[in-house]
Formats: sequence, C-alpha cells, structure tokens
Amino acid sequence: MNIIRNELIKSTFDGYFVAWNLSKGGRSGFHASSLIAPDKGTKAFCYREHILGIDHKRIPSEYSLQTLRVFSNGWELHRKWQGILQIAGVALYNEVEHFIDLSEIKGYVPDRAFTDVGVSGDMHRTTTIPSNGFALSFTPDSIIMYQGKPTVVEIKGYRNETYAKVVANPQTHQSYKDAKVQANLYMHLLGLKKSIILFDNKNDQNFFTIEEEYEPELIAPYVERGDKLQLCIDRYREGKIVKGVCATKDCTRAHACQMRDVCFEVPALRERYRLDYEV
Ligand code: SF4
Repeated sequence: MNIIRNELIKSTFDGYFVAWNLSKGGRSGFHASSLIAPDKGTKAFCYREHILGIDHKRIPSEYSLQTLRVFSNGWELHRKWQGILQIAGVALYNEVEHFIDLSEIKGYVPDRAFTDVGVSGDMHRTTTIPSNGFALSFTPDSIIMYQGKPTVVEIKGYRNETYAKVVANPQTHQSYKDAKVQANLYMHLLGLKKSIILFDNKNDQNFFTIEEEYEPELIAPYVERGDKLQLCIDRYREGKIVKGVCATKDCTRAHACQMRDVCFEVPALRERYRLDYEV
C-alpha cells in the first residue's frame, strides 16, 4: 500500500467537492428562508445586509472541505426523497424540477404564487409576499399531491443522536420548531394549507413525518419583517440606508455576513462594490 499515493488520491477527490460546490452556483437575490432568521445572535436578521445585497457584490462564502462533504450528503438526501416522491407519482414540484402547473389541478384555486411565477424555468421560484409586493425567491423541497391536496414537503436529515431527540419530543426541539416555521412560510407564499415535515435518520435511513396545518399567526412576525424590509428598500431608493446590527466589522455576526466589506465602507467608497461598477 502506498500511503502517500493514497493521500494524493484523497486530496484529488476532495477537490471534486470544491468543483461540485462551484457547479451549484450561488444563491443571489433575497431568499425567503432569510426572513425567518433569529432576532439576535450570530445569525441575527439584518435589514441592512439585505438592502446592500440588492446592488452590491457579496463576499463569496468559504467552506471547509469537511463542510462541503456534509453539504453534499444533505443534498443527496434531498435528491433521494425527491426521486422517491417523483417515482411514486405524487410529486408536483421539487426543488430542481417542476412537473406540473398547480393551477391545472382540479379544485386548486390559483393563488398568487404559481400564477405570478409560472411553473417552469428557473430553479428558484419568485413571488411576492401578498401584503407588500416585496419580491423574493423561495425553494420548498417538494410539493406533492397528498390526499387530494397540494402539500408542501420539508425534508430534514439528522444524525442518530439528534434524530432520537427529535423523535422523542419534537415539540420541544428547536430543529422541529424551525422546520415548522419554514413549512408555514412556504404554505403562506404558495397559498397552501397543508405541509409534511419529514425527518430522516442519516445513520439507519429510518424516518418519521409530522403533518402540519397552516398557522398564519406563526409566521405573522416574519411577514411583518417582509413589510419592514420593503419600507427599507423604498427608503434606500430615496438615498437613505437602514442601520445594521453590528457595532464593528470584527464582531462574530459581521464575520458571517457577505456584505461586511461594503457595510463598513464610507459611502463614497461603497461605489467600488456596486454590481455594475467598472474599473
Ligand atoms: S456587517 Fe453586520 S451590520 Fe453590516 S450588513 Fe452585515 S450583518 Fe448587517
């Protein structure tokens, strides 16, 4: 066995993960899942970040090789379930493919979502939060026809330890609470009333599901956030930009922000970061 040679092969294969990540392209624009960020902490919602993201360059995200390996595993888990739902003939849509126009389904009253966005084309759906017309994209993992109703499916994968905790008492587990809010946001955006959250055990491939009914009060704070963001956008177009959540460029939250360079730049020099800026 040639240890050095095997290490070189591993290193080459690790490079394939980098290529895989690049092949997916980055998300651009505003994604609905950003709306449900926490109020505080290292992932705190920041209006300024999203305003600057409209027309300024982002710092590309950097991930360790181990993180990329984990990402690819999660990606494949989603593909597995999306494939199973597709082969079963119940999938109306999944994150990467769209099979049917929901508005063609008998009994489905076309709502803002699919009438606004069409049903084929880009991977990301684009629609509006009804109360304010704010444009955003969103990507439910899947939408299936279940018991005669279009139903959002959110897929979550956990290692055995976490999975066991969620199974034991989902109502108290943060992962479940977050998934429930996300499913409700997608139901809200799509005008649907049902969702299924699917928890997959990465160790033994067992799974369990929780069916959810649309709970508008659960996502009301995030819809309000969308409203406020729209106001910030209007003010930005008038030349005023909202303050951010970070006191310094070196705080932990700023380090996780793709807009930190432009955020802490003086206004005149911010132009260098504009998307259409040419040297
Ligand atoms: S660096 Fe902080 S304050 Fe500035 S945009 Fe990012 S999160 Fe907001």
